[in-house]
Amino acid sequence: MAANWKMNKTVREAQEYTAALLPRAADAEGVDVAVFAPFTSLHEVARMAEDSPTPVIAGAQNFYYEDSGAFTGEVSVPMLQDVGARAAIVGHSERRELFGEDDDLVARKAARAVKAGLIPIVCVGETKEERDAGNMWEKVSGQVRRVMGELDDPGGAPLVFAYEPIWAIGTGETATPEDAQDAIGRIRDLLKEIGGDNFAQAVRILYGGSVKPYNAGEIMAQGDVDGALVGGASLEVESFMQLVKAANRPSPRTGRGGTLGDV
Ligand code: PEP
Repeated sequence: MAANWKMNKTVREAQEYTAALLPRAADAEGVDVAVFAPFTSLHEVARMAEDSPTPVIAGAQNFYYEDSGAFTGEVSVPMLQDVGARAAIVGHSERRELFGEDDDLVARKAARAVKAGLIPIVCVGETKEERDAGNMWEKVSGQVRRVMGELDDPGGAPLVFAYEPIWAIGTGETATPEDAQDAIGRIRDLLKEIGGDNFAQAVRILYGGSVKPYNAGEIMAQGDVDGALVGGASLEVESFMQLVKAANRPSPRTGRGGTLGDV
């Protein structure tokens, strides 16, 4: 269960949140809990999580694929790992739509993260127009294929996809559980075609788009939905913990609660 704070929280607010989350996340045995903080508070979240017996993954929301150099304003994978980040969101639709990130850039970033052992959560998804025109799968499969085509050794490191229909992000409009299952099941079938069944089963595929405590249970009950990437409802510890609890039961697909190490 992944919390995407987006551009929210000062360092002090991040400390308060993390201090409240860590003891409660201890109840979430069997669920990987991750917090994607802004760069300014990432170090602090990672430090607090590292000092805690509760495993919470600290992650970044973005990075650039080069390691160093004249890239003003950018942050690299080694820099993230240096401050304790273990994961990063790649190609969130807000990065694609507001900051012009295209499929090539997203694929390069994903490959860089995989190579370094930084878990990428690669976001894919269609606009409302694309869905209404019947082009959901063309768009999503193209995004997945582009990323997979860039990886040297797809099975070599943890890889996570997040199916996030753009029209459902931050809008309060959610895909139906059946639509989420349909898209995510198809992504898993595509991964199977590309890398074989063992590989496809090991890839975590999350749903994202207005996941809230009231709808999380139904979405998480879908066979191919391994978790959720959550914006708005992750900003308060209380509602985020309700989502973590919704994920804390055996997966209908694997029969296990499952952490990244044991799928
Ligand atoms: C997100 O940030 O990826 C997201 C899905 O946001 P929200 O839960 O607010 O729709």
